[in-house]
Amino acid sequence: MRRLQDKIKTEGKVLSGNVLKVDSFLNHQIDAQLMKAIGEEFASRFKNLGITKIVTIESSGIAPAVMTALILDVPVIFARKKKSLTLVEHLYTAPVHSFTKNETNDISISKDFITSDDTVLIIDDFLANGQAVLGLLAIIEQANAKVAGVGIVIEKAFQPGGEMVREKGIKLESLAEISSLNDGEMTFVEESVEQ
Ligand code: 5GP
Repeated sequence: MRRLQDKIKTEGKVLSGNVLKVDSFLNHQIDAQLMKAIGEEFASRFKNLGITKIVTIESSGIAPAVMTALILDVPVIFARKKKSLTLVEHLYTAPVHSFTKNETNDISISKDFITSDDTVLIIDDFLANGQAVLGLLAIIEQANAKVAGVGIVIEKAFQPGGEMVREKGIKLESLAEISSLNDGEMTFVEESVEQ
C-alpha cells in the first residue's frame, strides 16, 4: 500500500534491535485518515469470506481493526493483556511473548464473544516473530471458530512470523512489508525485488 509505505519512510524511525518506531501515526498518535484507508484496503482484501468477527490485541491493533470492521459491518474484540481478577474461568487465554518488551504475558478474550459459529479475521499492527498472531490463533481454536485470515499493517519480513502463518495455510495480507532495518535504513520487500 503505497500511501502507508510513504508514511513509514517519512515518519518511521529505526531503533536498535530491529525495532521500527511509528509512534506518530500508529502506535501513539493515530492518523485517522490513514487508518480509514487501511480499513478500506483490508476490507477489500478480505471481502466475501463470511467474516463475522474481527479479533486484535490491545492497544495498537484496535484502530486498524475498527476501521476494517466498520466496512465489513462486524464487531471487533480486542484481546486483553491483563486478566481481570473476576470470571477467570470464563476466558480463553494464551501466552504471548512480546518481541519489543521481552516478556511473556497471557492474553485473554471472554468466552461470550467468540463461538463455534464465528469466522474470524485477525488484524494487528505488526508481524515480527508471530507470537501475537499465534496467541490469537490459539484462542480462536479454543473457541472452535474458523479463521478467515490475518491482516497486518506492517510485516517485518526478515523475521519468521509471516512464514509461520503462511505455512499453516492461512491467508496473510500485509499492507507494508519491510525486508530489512539494517544500519538504521529501511528497505521494503517490493524495492528489494525491483533492484
Ligand atoms: P510478534 O508477536 O509477531 O513478534 O510481534 C507482534 C507485536 O509486537 C506487535 O503487536 C507489536 O506490538 C510488537 N512489535 C513487533 N515488532 C515491532 C516493531 O518493530 N515496532 C513496533 N512499534 N512494534 C513491534
